[in-house]
Amino acid sequence: MDKNALTFLQAPQISLSLAEQKQGLLSAIIATSDDAIISKTLKGIITSWNPAAERMFGYSEAETIGQHISLIIPPDRLDEEAYIIGQIAQGNRVNHFETLRLARDGKLIPISLSISPIISSKGVIIGASKIARNILERQIADEKQSMLAAIVASSDDAIISKTLEGIINSWNPAAERMFGYTETEVLGKHISLIIPPERLQEEAFIIGEVSKGNKVDHFHTVRLAKDGRQVAISLSVSPIVNDSGMVIGASKIARDISEQLSVQQEKERLYEQVKILNDRKDEFIGLASHELKTPLTSISGYLQILSTMMIDDKGRLFVAKTRQQVKKLSALISDLLDVSKIEAGRLRLALEQFDILQVLKDAIELLSYSNNNYDISLKTEITELQVTGDPHRIEQVLVNLLTNAIRYSPGTDRIIIYLSQELHEVRIGIQDFGIGIAPEKLKDIFTRFYRVDDTNSNVSGLGIGLYLSQDIVLRHKGRIWAESEPGIGSTFWFTLPLDK
Ligand code: ADP
Repeated sequence: MDKNALTFLQAPQISLSLAEQKQGLLSAIIATSDDAIISKTLKGIITSWNPAAERMFGYSEAETIGQHISLIIPPDRLDEEAYIIGQIAQGNRVNHFETLRLARDGKLIPISLSISPIISSKGVIIGASKIARNILERQIADEKQSMLAAIVASSDDAIISKTLEGIINSWNPAAERMFGYTETEVLGKHISLIIPPERLQEEAFIIGEVSKGNKVDHFHTVRLAKDGRQVAISLSVSPIVNDSGMVIGASKIARDISEQLSVQQEKERLYEQVKILNDRKDEFIGLASHELKTPLTSISGYLQILSTMMIDDKGRLFVAKTRQQVKKLSALISDLLDVSKIEAGRLRLALEQFDILQVLKDAIELLSYSNNNYDISLKTEITELQVTGDPHRIEQVLVNLLTNAIRYSPGTDRIIIYLSQELHEVRIGIQDFGIGIAPEKLKDIFTRFYRVDDTNSNVSGLGIGLYLSQDIVLRHKGRIWAESEPGIGSTFWFTLPLDK
């Protein structure tokens, strides 16, 4: 607008009506302009001041007409005015002169000035018209822009932008490091430059999503560096949208995850190795127990024959003691064999219907026989109760719990056994008055090889009895738990579901 307006200002003689029309137009343009438009004499006296100048500098027209322009010039920039007036006096324009001016409230306003001479009808320069544009917003935008540029430049992630056709139009230093191409090498090239041939269809998918305005986040893939290296990356791609909301390209951020991946792969490899070793260990325990059982069986057999041949009491006593130890050893080996079967998923139940009371009585009898100093009493109102399960395995659980009740209650002589029928299950409890278990240890006692006080215990063991018992009960779809108080005693409970 200024060009026409100023040409008009300089045009001397025009027919009146046309001149009037133009004058009106000119006034309207000046009044509605967003730029401050000010005119002044060559001495710097302000002769016009439009509404935008009022808004920009905070002075009204009435306040400024007749004042010197230095009103809005910061003291340290007064010599600029001399330079500008010098140019104008020579008939030159000063274009896009960026400087600061002072508003009424003392704020400095960054502006871009364009100043033209005003020429009288006689062709004499009589003043200057200045157009001032507030460039604060542009400066903020510029600052933002350079901040963003700095972030992109210093990022550790590769940041790349491309058109929807896949043509690369920006490439930051991290992209140079990651893929080995310099910016100049790739600008204008197609992004397929870094895509392995077998992954080209990924690009179609990504562009498809981005064209619809969608983001693609944390897409794990592989890209190709200049030297042929495969780079594992996590890719996030966002649409680039222009002012009118149209998607015009895509920006991709690629993070090198090779290191992350190799740590993960290493973890997986170690896990696999540990698993294999663990399986081998279980296999070994299984094999070893099996091999140990065979000679033990024949030792047992010969001991039995030997006991019938013994004539003197001492010899009989020693053989009996030996047989007892062999029995213990063989029970331990059976337990170990069972553990290996559980681990290998080969522990089988032989299900049948049986009377739980009878099995309980058999177990009590067995234990009472070898621990005759204990009073093992059964509290129940049941006379017979059929359940479905493996009676030998249930007996094994009972023997385990009873043996523990005796082993962990030195100096006492009483064990109480409870048997009751609940709504859908039978419940069995074995109570001792022994050393008990600390509350914080209770949750671990059913864990394989766990012993509450391994170092300090007078009782030896492998920590597998409860583990086996729990496995057997759970396979019967029952529950097993313990209640205990140190120094008072423990009660181990388990349930078995009843047939409906
Ligand atoms: P083991 O008795 O061979 O060590 P178990 O699996 O049978 O293995 O028992 C695990 C641990 O639980 C035992 O070492 C013992 O510390 C504790 N425990 C089991 N039963 C009792 C009990 N009746 N009283 C006190 N502690 C017990």
